[in-house]
Amino acid sequence: MTSELPNARPDFSIEDCPRFPSLYDFCQLYAGGSIEGAWKLNQKRTDVAINWAGGLHHARKSEGSGFCYVNDIVLAIIELLRYHPRVLYIDIDIHHGDAVQDAFYHTDRVMCVSFHKYAPNFFPGTGSVNEIGHKEGKHYSVNVPLKDGIDDTNYLKMFKPIISDVMEFYRPTAVVLQCGADSLRGDRIGNFNLSINGHAECVRFVSSYNLPTLVVGGGGYCIRNVSRCWTNETAVLLDVDLPFDLPDNEYFAHFAPDFKLQNTGMEAENQNTRGYLDSLLTQVRKNIRTLQHAPSVQMTAIPPSLYDDIMDNMDEDEEDKDANEEYLRETGPDRSMPRSPPRPNPTAEFDGGAEERSSTSNTNNTNTNTNTNSHDVAAKEDATAAMDADDDRGASTAAAAAAQQAKHQQESQASPTAQMMDVERYPSPTTTNNNTNDTSDANTTPITNFRGQVFDQGCE
Ligand SMILES: [Zn+2]
Repeated sequence: MTSELPNARPDFSIEDCPRFPSLYDFCQLYAGGSIEGAWKLNQKRTDVAINWAGGLHHARKSEGSGFCYVNDIVLAIIELLRYHPRVLYIDIDIHHGDAVQDAFYHTDRVMCVSFHKYAPNFFPGTGSVNEIGHKEGKHYSVNVPLKDGIDDTNYLKMFKPIISDVMEFYRPTAVVLQCGADSLRGDRIGNFNLSINGHAECVRFVSSYNLPTLVVGGGGYCIRNVSRCWTNETAVLLDVDLPFDLPDNEYFAHFAPDFKLQNTGMEAENQNTRGYLDSLLTQVRKNIRTLQHAPSVQMTAIPPSLYDDIMDNMDEDEEDKDANEEYLRETGPDRSMPRSPPRPNPTAEFDGGAEERSSTSNTNNTNTNTNTNSHDVAAKEDATAAMDADDDRGASTAAAAAAQQAKHQQESQASPTAQMMDVERYPSPTTTNNNTNDTSDANTTPITNFRGQVFDQGCE
């Protein structure tokens, strides 16, 4: 089954996705923003939701990839699928939206359209025009592989007719638009020549269809151009004109030398010939026109909301925290911890010794691996079951499976990350010995002092 996915590739996750303090909080914030945006669209509380912190389109169900830890886009689309029979995903980041495409590669309920650079050794190495989806999802993945240096005119000559065709043939009921700003001229990774106006024209064009739309950020490695781009696109979505001269602000000096609402940077040579673009456009439009008009699904039941589930879990977390604090008040001297320690096991003795800490760290490590592996197995089983369930395409089943998948993703990503932070926070046995050897009462240092010492050393 795995071989049917196009994106088997080397493991970039460790180099691209390092751990850092508050990583879990960061993931919660940006993924929660996209999920809540989708929820508000479902509730008709807004017609456009923006989350510039989101758009991390490379993250996979059980691994980070390409600076992306949790795929907020997939989670948001799963939320939209509770009410929307067809969701269109459009990606104008310079990199292929590989993980979003893979998540929905076998279904016609989500159409993924990605405009990106496609060249040897360019991350993630996928997104050829021949990746069109599989099984029920055949022709519901659309890839527009471009070369260095494409400018506004040529980009829009591809973007507008393709999106027009998709709107006509697929008739989505909701849209998710990923606005990665690394497709701008002057980006440190990308080599396209888009201006912020050309980039924003894509946003304007999509919003002209007046569909419920979730707009998310994505890549962008020239920060002053990213802020110009997404400021301008916020204004486009609000139908507001901004002055070309930037107003005075505390970051004004960063926008030298021109202080204008336009991106700066070197132009790359345009390697997209007219012939290449014409034949690409012809092939992509031909693929789109072969798909069935507006596939329908039977909306028999509304599956549970991922957003509601998260809110419930937050309530439970609060209850757990209260219970934890009460437990610690009764049993341990550990109230100085700024964050709840691992949930205590009521059957285990908690003596606070260094040896116990070491074994706790090791246990956490073991648990992390065990959890990850078991989730990987569960994920693969889910994916296999989903791929095999050709005859069972009722909306409730598909969406319930999606919700289940989201839950697995939450668990598989949240639990190990949280535990890794604890493992990191608690020094290794070696560090423990080194630190305590310097003191005369090393073996009897109370746990409170030890942790306090760690925090004083700047590990927080
Ligand atoms: Zn990118």
